[in-house]
Amino acid sequence: SSPASNGGENCCVKVSLHIRPLIADERAQGCKDCVTVVSGKPQVQIGTHAFTFDHVYGSSGTPSSAMFEECIAPLVDGLFQGYNATVLAYGQTGSGKTYTMGTGFKDGCQMGIIPQVMNVLFSKIETLKHQIEFQLHVSFIEILKEEVRDLLDPATLNKSDTANGHGGKVNLPGKPPIQIRETSNGVITLAGSTEVSVSTFKEMATCLEQGSLSRATGSTNMNNQSSRSHAIFTITLEQMRKLNPVFPGDSNPNDSMNEEYLCAKLHLVDLAGSERAKRTGSDGMRFKEGVHINKGLLALGNVISALGDDKRRKEGVHVPYRDSKLTRLLQDSLGGNSRTVMIACISPADINAEETLNTLKYANRAR
Ligand code: ADP
Ligand code: MG
Repeated sequence: SSPASNGGENCCVKVSLHIRPLIADERAQGCKDCVTVVSGKPQVQIGTHAFTFDHVYGSSGTPSSAMFEECIAPLVDGLFQGYNATVLAYGQTGSGKTYTMGTGFKDGCQMGIIPQVMNVLFSKIETLKHQIEFQLHVSFIEILKEEVRDLLDPATLNKSDTANGHGGKVNLPGKPPIQIRETSNGVITLAGSTEVSVSTFKEMATCLEQGSLSRATGSTNMNNQSSRSHAIFTITLEQMRKLNPVFPGDSNPNDSMNEEYLCAKLHLVDLAGSERAKRTGSDGMRFKEGVHINKGLLALGNVISALGDDKRRKEGVHVPYRDSKLTRLLQDSLGGNSRTVMIACISPADINAEETLNTLKYANRAR
């Protein structure tokens, strides 16, 4: 396979590859590392295939801080300038999506993208808070079987029934389902989901931790903690900036003409496992979930490749946001002025070679 033809500056989606190390379980099975990073290039080889990305991180020994600095920190800066952004972790179950994204946040562990975003966010706010008034909100939802579930619903959090070991919960009867809506100026909102107002790192960390615990997981023969849902942690930053009057004392401090309001959101998405439904090999019910998961991932692939195709975009080609809940929810934060980073996560183990190849192909198409 050839390197992506559509890389470069005008590409609105950046794709980075993250290769986790072999884990104990894979070593115990005698797995070999089958992914080679081409030295000095953001390129990997697996068998006779080669793929080039915007960045490659992992086995080569690059610290995870490099990924944050190069791929994620610019999105946090953009948030302060009013640009929406989306970070997507894609890959098969067990490839390191949750680890990389930090969605499995526990006990103040600062690893992973989300805790690092929170660090940068709060230190920037600290330095700017004298000129700018900030308001922060978070929501945390998951999409399972094309239904949106609120991971921060206080009623659900309190009723956490973990007796089945899955932490699986359902929306309480009587509570209307969460609906994705679009305002007249194209802003996507989630009607009926909890938005928590936060002002400290600790408050935001509590939301992340509680929502993570509440996330539905189930067993498949791939991995007994396999996640079949897309988990979306969203940070909304509102800013009210007082503009300096040209001549001090010239203006009324309550005059709204002298204020600038900005609002932007950052979606941090831990996508469902990309493995095919047939590989889970279980009952019809599980298969149906697999089909629905693929619907979101399929639609996402189609949206991203439509966005990345400059020629088609200029021709005003239809971007199929409405084909899944996932793409509909991300509509105002994918494409347009917003910034998108996809982190394709892979295992280096030879037993995963087939799925790894699928991930590399999917991610390559996104560029
Ligand atoms: P996924 O969310 O894609 O199913 P996980 O994030 O749960 O995958 O990772 C699967 C396993 O691999 C976990 O045991 C995790 O601790 C381990 N792992 C993932 N990424 C790394 C990494 N960069 N370094 C070390 N271990 C990792
Ligand atoms: Mg996971």
